Amino acid sequence: MESIQTDAICLPIPDMYLAEVRFDNARETGTFIVEHMELYEGDLVYVTGPMQEKVGTVIDVTYHCKIRPSKYERVVAKIDTDLYGEFIPLEHLWVTFDRDCMDKDKMRLWFLSPLTDGECMDSCGFIPFALHNLDNFKISDIRAERGESYYEEHRVVYICLDKGKGYAIVQGSEYYEVTFTYIDDKIHDILCNCYCEGHCKHEYAVLLQLQDLLGDWAVNFDENYAKQEYFAAIDKTVAWNMSISRKYGKIIKLTEESYGGFIVYED
Ligand SMILES: [Zn+2]
Repeated sequence: MESIQTDAICLPIPDMYLAEVRFDNARETGTFIVEHMELYEGDLVYVTGPMQEKVGTVIDVTYHCKIRPSKYERVVAKIDTDLYGEFIPLEHLWVTFDRDCMDKDKMRLWFLSPLTDGECMDSCGFIPFALHNLDNFKISDIRAERGESYYEEHRVVYICLDKGKGYAIVQGSEYYEVTFTYIDDKIHDILCNCYCEGHCKHEYAVLLQLQDLLGDWAVNFDENYAKQEYFAAIDKTVAWNMSISRKYGKIIKLTEESYGGFIVYED
């Protein structure tokens, strides 16, 4: 036993250990069980229990200790905060055409715990309409107005379009997920996972953001968009807080065309 402890520094990370996690908004810390996951100080995680909706920061790990599993809640996911690739600026967003850089499954964890409910299903029919004319979108005037405010307040914090399949995150009282299909200049379906009956302000904000992005030269006429049939965009403040400000050893180069864009390289 003694020799194991002396050599502890050389041992691989154990299958089960404890992590101390801090939750910024709640100014609370707690100890959580980690299983089959490599965690280091500074990693962002989600946990089970009362803090399950919050993003936590690992502030310490304890590898070698006696653990009574029933005493602790668990770490359920580590957030992949890495962003590599080239980004172009578009108002409050940074846009990329690199499919591997910000895919929706990775980005969902930036906003939502894996334990939160997934996307909704819609049972009623939907009549497709042209994106450039939202008069045919069945939404009340009040909701449309609020959606417009959401769009103007830059609350669409992530949006991607992959061969016609779209996904977006909208910041309301919490983060909401909106899925949609956009083919041949038409919206074929759109659905938000909030508790609203019928079409909601989150969906309207996403449609306005999509109009804006696709109407912009930077996206729609970019040869990469035509080639890849893909783009993804992230809110600049979110990207800075979650990723770029944390890239201590990475190289960030400003792009030549506009100093608002950048390329991130690995070491
Ligand atoms: Zn909604």
